[in-house]
Amino acid sequence: MEVIKQVNIIREKMQALRCSGKRIGFVATMGALHEGHLQLLRASAKENDITVCSIFVNPTQFNNPEDYKLYPRTSEQDIALLKTVNCDYLFEPDASEIYTQQTLLQFSFGALEAVMEGEHRPGHFNGVATIVSKLFHYITPHRAYFGQKDLQQVAVVRQLVQALSFDLELICFPTVREQNGLAMSSRNKRLTEEQRQVATNLYKVLQLAAGKLRENSVQSIKQEVAAFLQDTGQIKLEYFEVAHPDTLQPVQNVQEVKEVKEVALCIAAHVGEVRLIDNMLVNLNDA
Ligand code: AMP
Repeated sequence: MEVIKQVNIIREKMQALRCSGKRIGFVATMGALHEGHLQLLRASAKENDITVCSIFVNPTQFNNPEDYKLYPRTSEQDIALLKTVNCDYLFEPDASEIYTQQTLLQFSFGALEAVMEGEHRPGHFNGVATIVSKLFHYITPHRAYFGQKDLQQVAVVRQLVQALSFDLELICFPTVREQNGLAMSSRNKRLTEEQRQVATNLYKVLQLAAGKLRENSVQSIKQEVAAFLQDTGQIKLEYFEVAHPDTLQPVQNVQEVKEVKEVALCIAAHVGEVRLIDNMLVNLNDA
């Protein structure tokens, strides 16, 4: 695996590969790699000639400076893991390489960014769209792999690809969980053993809510979710939403979305100082 830190070098390499007819698969990450990332990389290695992973803790998508400072950085371990999944190139730039001057560029994703992560993390999706656009330009992938763990991010990137005519296929993989249900996340590395246990309640409460969709109103499910997490004494709920699976707009009444047959249950909460998100797609025929 080749590690590249400069934009002009990754551009040259990718241009040459594309010209020689190679298919390029790409996985964008912020590092501290885990099985959630590795499944994307394995799929890319299987479905393309060349696999590129980027590791870049992107400052412009953090609305909380402390979160940026404390984000786990485990470069050596990551490189060892990447070698196990047949990754061909790691693009691991410094921030000064990516942001050579302050950018004033503003994206708008309309209603999609007015809810959940967009609402609670001002500027987050602007930062995401900026870095994803830059990476797509440098790497020119044929296929880009993302995780359902960041469901709203996938919807934003889908809108971005469509709006800016990026010539690539976007592929989304399901959330990989620990055996106890906790969604794998780089931020889990900041949790104590006890907090990791407490955090499994996020998945439990999603399951609980999924089981009540058919019989109960969204309003009463929201109240139950809040009460369940309050009872843990250690989880501060930021939001829980029942949302349309594509537009991510809130659903007040599950009957409204019967024709799409699915809703997304989305949650964000703090366990200690660490902010975690999770979601679950629920088929209304099963609920
Ligand atoms: P991150 O490094 O957290 O920015 O994530 C990089 C990519 O991996 C994103 O597309 C995430 O959605 C995806 N990802 C992160 N955690 C998981 C997980 N537990 N399961 C599936 N995909 C994930």
